[in-house]
Formats: sequence, structure tokens, C-alpha cells
Amino acid sequence: MTIDSLVKQYAEISSFLNTRWPLKNHEQRTFARTMKIMEELGELSDEILTSMNLQRNTKIEKFSKENVEDEFADVLGSLILLGIELDIDVKEVMQRKINFTRDRFGMDE
Ligand SMILES: [Mg+2]
Repeated sequence: MTIDSLVKQYAEISSFLNTRWPLKNHEQRTFARTMKIMEELGELSDEILTSMNLQRNTKIEKFSKENVEDEFADVLGSLILLGIELDIDVKEVMQRKINFTRDRFGMDE
């Protein structure tokens, strides 16, 4: 899977979400997408804590690595949905940030 196909598939999901749960405007969609990231980040945090045996036993008993992976994917997916709402070119901005980071740490010298 490429970043382009990932974003394209999430653009389809975004259209579906906008039809199924229509919000008044761009501002409300941006707010909702941002809150969703926070929700998913909380779920990922919960799974990480569980993986470290820092949650109650009933959660620890049900732990599986797949849960961590699923919540990781939910965080990334919800970030992409926000990127789509904000008209961010995910591929371009990630390459820009990678270049910035490589330059900052002198990785290409
Ligand atoms: Mg989730």
C-alpha cells in the first residue's frame, strides 16, 4: 500500500462519514476529527498500558498485540481523516518533515 492509496481510501471513508453523520460546516468537521484523534489516542494509550501490565487484571487478561496494532491504525486513520478535512497533502508534508529531520540531525552528511 502506498501513501496515495491510503489517503484515497480514507477520502472514501471521509465522504461516507460526511454523508452518514453530516456536520454543519468545515469548522465542525475539523473539531470532530480532532476530538476523534484524541479518543483514538486514549484507546492506544490504554492498550500500551495494558501491554505493560499497568491496567487492571481483567484488561491484562484480554490483551493481545493485535489490539495495540488496531488502535495504532485508528490513530493514524483518524489523523489522515483530519488531514483530508484540512486539505493537507499527507505525502508531501511527510516528505518535507523527513527531509527536515534528516537535515536537523545531519543524517545526509
Ligand atoms: Mg479505536
